[in-house]
Amino acid sequence: MAKKNKKEFCSFCGRDQNHTELLIPSPLNEDLMICLDCVEQINEFFGSGTSSSKHRHVTSRSDAESDSARESLPKPKEIFDKLNEYVIGQETAKKYLSVAVYNHYKRIYQPTEDDIDIEKSNIALVGPTGTGKTLLAKTIARFLEVPFTIVDATVLTQAGYVGEDIESLLTRLLQAADYDVEKTEKGIIFIDEIDKIARKGDNPSITRDVSGEGVQQGLLKLLEGSKVLVPPQGGRKHPEQRMIEVDTKNILFICGGAFDGIEQKIAQRLNTHVIGYTSDSAAQKRQRDNLMQFITPQDLKSFGLIPEIIGRLPILTHLDPLDRDALKRILTEPRNAIVRQYTKLFAIDGVELVFEDATLDYIVDKAIEFKIGARGLRSVVETIMIDAMFDVPSEHTPKFVVTKEYAAKKLESAYLGTK
Ligand code: ADP
Repeated sequence: MAKKNKKEFCSFCGRDQNHTELLIPSPLNEDLMICLDCVEQINEFFGSGTSSSKHRHVTSRSDAESDSARESLPKPKEIFDKLNEYVIGQETAKKYLSVAVYNHYKRIYQPTEDDIDIEKSNIALVGPTGTGKTLLAKTIARFLEVPFTIVDATVLTQAGYVGEDIESLLTRLLQAADYDVEKTEKGIIFIDEIDKIARKGDNPSITRDVSGEGVQQGLLKLLEGSKVLVPPQGGRKHPEQRMIEVDTKNILFICGGAFDGIEQKIAQRLNTHVIGYTSDSAAQKRQRDNLMQFITPQDLKSFGLIPEIIGRLPILTHLDPLDRDALKRILTEPRNAIVRQYTKLFAIDGVELVFEDATLDYIVDKAIEFKIGARGLRSVVETIMIDAMFDVPSEHTPKFVVTKEYAAKKLESAYLGTK
C-alpha cells in the first residue's frame, strides 16, 4: 500500500497522479510506479494495438477476430474431457458447466448481425463443502486461459458496512488480469459460500436481515451486467482515488454453496418426508443424495436467495458427496493427483516411490474418520511422508515402498504421540 501523504509519480516519465489517469504500483516495490500513459506508449511501441484505455470493450473486437476466437473455442465435450483430467466424479455438474461455459463464450464472440440477444448464463453450484466446486471453476478458467478469482461471499458487505465492498470482486479480477480491462471483462469470478448471504427466512417483511439481503442486492448489479467503477488497488472508494471502469456484461459468475439443509426444502416441495437427524446416517445420506438431484430455483428461494439473484443464475446444478471410492480415485487419478506429485518429487532424486493399494485405502479411511474429506487427503499423506522425504534423498535407495504398516506408524506417532 502506498504510504499516506507521499507523492506518487511514474518511475518512467515522472508524471504525478494529477497528470495521469492511473498509477500502477510494482507488485515487488511499492515505490515503483508506472502510469497509464506509459503503458499505452509501450503497447503502441510493440504494435499490439491493445490500448489500455478504460473504455475498451469486447465489442471493439473486429468481426474477424471474433470469428477466429469463436472457432477456437473448445466444444462442450472438450471442456468436459479437460474437467475429467482434474475432477473426479460430479458428472452432472461437469456437463452443465461445459455447456454453460461454451455458450457463455460463444455469446461473447457471437456475430453481431442479428439482434437476438443471447442472455448471460451465470451458474450456481450446490453441493457439500470439499466436493470440487472451486476446483471445477478453477480448472475451466485455467483451460480457457481467462482471468479467474475466488471470493468468499461472507466477506462482502453492503456499502457503508465493515467488510469488503462488492466492487472488490472486480478489483481482484483486474489484478488477476494484470489490469488488462479487456481480459478482465471476459474473466470468471467464483463466489464461494453464496448460501451464507441467504436471507434468514422466506418472508422478507418479517425477518429482514440487512447484511445478507443487502449483499445480494449489491451482487445483483454485477451479475446482470453493468458498468462499475472499480478502485484498482481495492479498499474503500474515496473521492481522490482514480477508478477503472469495468463492464461486467461478459464476466461469468459461478456461485457455489453447500446450502446445508436444502434437502428439507426440496422434500417439502416434493411433498416427501425427510428422515430426521436421529435416524441412521446411511439412510439420511442416501436420501440427501437422491433429493439433491431434484434441486430447482424454487428451493434456492425457500433457502433465502432473493428471486432476482436466482433469476441471474439460470444454470443450477449440484455436486454429489464424495464416497470412499471417489476419495481413493482423487489420490491417484487427477493429472496433479497427490500420489503423482509425491512420485514425481521422489523421481527427481532418482527414487521410485510406490504406494501399496492397502496404503491408499488406509489414507482414505483416515480422511473419512477425521471427517476432513478430499481437502484433508493431502495433509494425511504429508504427515505420512515427512520422514521419508527427510531421509530418502541422502540414502541413495533406488525404491521406497509406502506400506500400510509404515503409513499407520507414521500417522499414529504424529497424531496420537505414539512411537
Ligand atoms: P468446494 O466444493 O468446497 O469448493 P474444493 O473444490 O475447494 O471444494 O475442493 C477442495 C480440494 O479437494 C480440491 O482442491 C481438490 O484437491 C480436492 N477435491 C475435492 N473434490 C474433488 C473432486 N471431485 N475431484 C478431485 N479432487 C477433488
